[in-house]
Amino acid sequence: MRVDPKRQRERMVNDQLKARGISDARVLAVMGELPRHLFVEEAMAGRAYSDSPLPIGEGQTISQPYIVALMSELLQVGPGTKVLEIGTGSGYQAAVLAKLGADVHTVERIPRLCASARERLLSLGLFNVHVKLDDGTLGWPSAAPFDRIIVTAGGPEVPPPLVDQLGEGGRLLMPLGGAKRAQSLVLIEKTPAGVVQTDLGAVAFVDLVGKHGW
Ligand code: SAH
Repeated sequence: MRVDPKRQRERMVNDQLKARGISDARVLAVMGELPRHLFVEEAMAGRAYSDSPLPIGEGQTISQPYIVALMSELLQVGPGTKVLEIGTGSGYQAAVLAKLGADVHTVERIPRLCASARERLLSLGLFNVHVKLDDGTLGWPSAAPFDRIIVTAGGPEVPPPLVDQLGEGGRLLMPLGGAKRAQSLVLIEKTPAGVVQTDLGAVAFVDLVGKHGW
């Protein structure tokens, strides 16, 4: 299939992101540049900029562009922000955060996805992403604390190790719920007065599987 990625990206940014209220100019610029078609299997490249999640193998999906933009905007990252992502998948969300300047640590539990994401991120020159094969519900203790934590799979609870590894003033975003259950995106803020949880509305992610997952 013939793809004109630049034009497709422009349309994605205008019709899917700006039109729905994404206003962070840096997020819009990064998603307008990043070659999303290189994060999906070749047979799917023609649909890489469509308004939907797509299969990436192993029963997993790359999130819909709007959801990646929304989570990137809500996370509020900039140059040097230390971010932990659980659920590397294709590596696309990690790449967006890395292009925003963040120092990204990302954990994936499926070996094949972990290996291909690592290779893809390196081939794009994104050396500020560290990829690890592990159960991400345990976090990445040796690299903690993190300024931001983003979980891109839906779980039954916010894994306690992740709350522990979130620094003071930190923000954590995670879908609560499961693939066959209702899910809502929650924001956890660690403030001097304690942990504050805000419900941000319905989302649909694959299941978080692990010690503190399903
Ligand atoms: N952020 C990804 C999409 C995530 S799909 C992207 O941009 O493409 C969710 C991913 O979470 C899947 O790859 C799944 O294998 C992974 N996952 C589920 N439970 C996990 C766990 N406990 N630790 C690490 N990864 C997990």
